[in-house]
Amino acid sequence: PALLANDVCRRNGLLILSVLSVTIGCLLGFFLRTQHLSSQEISYIQFPGELLMRMLKMLILPLVVSRNMFPANLVEATFKQYRTKTTPMVKSNKAVASEATPQRILIYGVQEENGSQVQNFALDLTPPPEVVYKSEPGTSDGMNVLGIVIFSATMGIMLGRMGDSGAPLVSFCQCLNESVMKIVAVAVWYFPFGIVFLIAGKILEMDDPKAIGKKLGFYAVTVVCGLVVHGLLILPVLYFIITKKNPIVFIRGVLQALLIALATSSSSATLPITFKCLLENNHIDRRIARFVLPVGATINMDGTALYEAVAAIFIAQVNNYELDFGQIITISITATAASIGAAGIPQAGLVTMVIVLTSVGLPTDDITLIVAVDWALDRFRTMINVLGDALATGIMAHICRKDFARDVGTEMCWLRAE
Ligand code: ASP
Repeated sequence: PALLANDVCRRNGLLILSVLSVTIGCLLGFFLRTQHLSSQEISYIQFPGELLMRMLKMLILPLVVSRNMFPANLVEATFKQYRTKTTPMVKSNKAVASEATPQRILIYGVQEENGSQVQNFALDLTPPPEVVYKSEPGTSDGMNVLGIVIFSATMGIMLGRMGDSGAPLVSFCQCLNESVMKIVAVAVWYFPFGIVFLIAGKILEMDDPKAIGKKLGFYAVTVVCGLVVHGLLILPVLYFIITKKNPIVFIRGVLQALLIALATSSSSATLPITFKCLLENNHIDRRIARFVLPVGATINMDGTALYEAVAAIFIAQVNNYELDFGQIITISITATAASIGAAGIPQAGLVTMVIVLTSVGLPTDDITLIVAVDWALDRFRTMINVLGDALATGIMAHICRKDFARDVGTEMCWLRAE
């Protein structure tokens, strides 16, 4: 508890600093607009913010590779281990596989209409030899994020299948991931300072800051509406279809965890409460919760994925940049990958947002536009992240119920998986 309290204080310190820096950045920007600075002077103001963006971009490659390779490997290895003991998981795998088929048909159907977009998209999916850099300069800061995501996830799945012989690369990825997260932990203390100048620089550059402010309001409302629809409609309906149980009763059981998520903006900090709610109120098997929840808190972030996609489209609209079909698909995939890459801590989604913007060539420093409202949106998306994890645990508990009742040996399987 002492450690947790310390952690919460540290995080709130950062939150207060972030809100302060957004306010100071806005005030500074509007004040400097009245001073009619030269472009040279504006570039000095923008410099600390540019350093911040460079720091974020530096982290993209190790973050995407390690965060996608590692969970893919983890999930594959666990599925393999569990599949030997249970059949329901195999059934759900088959369901996923059969769902994939209409999607493929859809993609090829569209190709007839808009061949080149889909072809470009497909080429990005299969990147070698330009795994890291796109051939066309200027498209997305040269980096083929989608290609890297697909390559890393495929590598991760293969490593999961290789078992012991893949272990060195797996621990390399774990190390890489941990060290990148340590760099992020240090870099976040520079963020408030960088944000002041990023925002001030952006306001100095804008033609009409008031119009952008109005658009920002619409953006925030769109994200909240999306989260409400996802959390109150899509997830509960999915839960009901699979389990045939009342989702409202289930959600009532985890209400305390949702409120903690709203208060802390961190699904990791909420984890112990989510666990307690699932066990005590929803009577979920401890073994399932102990495994599914931590994996969910790491890779299952519906709210973050939704927000990153809406934010990328908002930034495209602000720049009058028309997104084609392939780019929208790219945004969906990279937003999902970026949400996997985001840690369960406050505003982690803002950092991985760079990945989504880079994938379609949108200006990454426009993240400043959404910083001002992000501290609030973060709270709502964290609630949905936690709700998604809780409902997924409920669904898993339902799918595995027969095996748990029948097969005592399964407990050993779960213990090994843990
Ligand atoms: N704060 C979110 C979470 O902890 C992550 C994010 O920034 O989207 O789940």
